Amino acid sequence: MVITRERIKLTFLSYHEIIMQFYTNFINIVVREVIGFIFRFSGISYILREVLLKNKATIVVYHDPEPKVFEKHIRYLSKHYNFLSLNKLVDAIHKKDRSDIPAKPLIVTIDDGHSGNYKLLEIFKRYNINPTIYLCSHVINTNRKFWFKACLSRSEELKKLPYEAMLKSLWNEVNYQLEKEYQQRQALNIDELNKMLPYVEFGSHTKFHPILTTCTDEKCREEVEESKKYLETLLNRPIEHFAYPNGDYAEREMKFAMNCGYKSARTLDCGLNDIHSNPFKLKVNEIQDNASLNILCAQVGSLFPFIRYLRKNYLKSHRKFISNIYRKLRWLKKLK
Ligand SMILES: [Zn+2]
Repeated sequence: MVITRERIKLTFLSYHEIIMQFYTNFINIVVREVIGFIFRFSGISYILREVLLKNKATIVVYHDPEPKVFEKHIRYLSKHYNFLSLNKLVDAIHKKDRSDIPAKPLIVTIDDGHSGNYKLLEIFKRYNINPTIYLCSHVINTNRKFWFKACLSRSEELKKLPYEAMLKSLWNEVNYQLEKEYQQRQALNIDELNKMLPYVEFGSHTKFHPILTTCTDEKCREEVEESKKYLETLLNRPIEHFAYPNGDYAEREMKFAMNCGYKSARTLDCGLNDIHSNPFKLKVNEIQDNASLNILCAQVGSLFPFIRYLRKNYLKSHRKFISNIYRKLRWLKKLK
């Protein structure tokens, strides 16, 4: 290999980028941790939870948390909230009657049906939680892979493609096929599902987890409707709740979910719920599977999404105003 000055420069640049990336991530983690700590111990989270928002229902979303971390979270949440099943919240919304809902209600939901969820069963029993796990009906009980795990580095990019084009791209790049059986199982199997049935409400998360808004009408209807029927036959119980994959939905997806006979559909829109909420637009607070208690406190209390909202809507529209003030100050300084 010929070592040229350009090559040395390029190598130095890529190392520099890696170090900068690491540094940015590190700062990001520290800042989030500090903000979470202040939110948790300053009394703000207490006032929000115990006074201002105590009649609002919080739905948290996990994916594949480690049992040790999950138990730590549930122990913390059990001290500050009252666990409630999704069924009870949805019934209250349909009846417009909150008399069966405790103060500070919190509903635990878990997406996709990862095989690791089975290890959480003892925690569900110990803390008397009745979570809802949304299953991908045609990935559970098989050795098929979740498509978004087949090409992790590009999954965000792939989500934007039309569904058929995305599958084609996955085939070309990593030989991925929806119905291919792989060596390792990624989702829950029927033995595990049966053992969980007395403690868990199962909902549908489509057949294969497509981004519904990128599907044709026919594909979208099939994913929403057939997953429900399949799970009802497999588990021998009604499947009444649905979650939009990746939280992507529009009027069409809501209509399909309603027409198929679901009682609710959960989004990934950030926010809280009450009896006036639209049951096909349930809002959530997403929890990082490996969050520290400070981060958990900020996430369950909607702090980070609130900061994101402020940055996106408030600060952006006021940037012009702030830069005008700055310009005027500079002009005044020149006058002096
Ligand atoms: Zn999902």
